[in-house]
Amino acid sequence: MELDVLAFGAHPDDIELTCAGTIIKLGKMGYKTGVISLTRGELGTRGTAEIRAEEFDASGKIMELDVHKALNIPDGNITVSRENKLKVIREIREYRPKLVLTFYWDVRHPDHGYTSDLVREAAFLAGLKKIDTGQKAHRPAKVIYYADRFEFKPSFIVDVTNTHEDKVRAIQAYKSQFHNPEKERYGDDETNISRPEFLEAVITRAKQYGSYIGVQYGEPFLVREPMRVDDPVQFFTENSQEGFL
Ligand SMILES: [Zn+2]
Repeated sequence: MELDVLAFGAHPDDIELTCAGTIIKLGKMGYKTGVISLTRGELGTRGTAEIRAEEFDASGKIMELDVHKALNIPDGNITVSRENKLKVIREIREYRPKLVLTFYWDVRHPDHGYTSDLVREAAFLAGLKKIDTGQKAHRPAKVIYYADRFEFKPSFIVDVTNTHEDKVRAIQAYKSQFHNPEKERYGDDETNISRPEFLEAVITRAKQYGSYIGVQYGEPFLVREPMRVDDPVQFFTENSQEGFL
């Protein structure tokens, strides 16, 4: 299957917490969407590998993905190795996405930073014919970075007002990871992400980015390269609203 958009995360719930509103929106617009987690999240403090796998599947259904899978790179040990580059190259060549999404590189969790570098390099290398994986070479049109904890000045913000609720439902599918009154099922260890304030912060941030473009909820993205615009008059009149200069 060929995808329009393929988002890579380090852990099973990374995409839900960052750019799921956009992924769900694109799926509803008719684009083929996929999410690949580089690890199975086996180091997560709460829950078990089986519980996390069930939650991963439940969230994928909510996001209406065409492809949702986890690779077997060890959690807590993502490196930009030749072996890992080949793993990501194989996925890019298999699904031939037009756009690849990955973490913005300046992050707190080391796995997230390495995911950013690994995916960026693999997206480039996937286009080199002489790297032989038995598949046809493919280079995506663009690698786009989504935001984790640290902010950047976005290249663009996507209006996700209509898919924000689905994004929150996808996050809440990870019942063992986030705030949940049924604590006894998952152990009492409170983690950074299991505090009720954590989800509130994710929602508040979506409101903040939404306010920059005059909508209720938004998700920010960064592209490294300057963007080509052939007709600035058409581009900016179609894509901006009066009063949001
Ligand atoms: Zn993560």
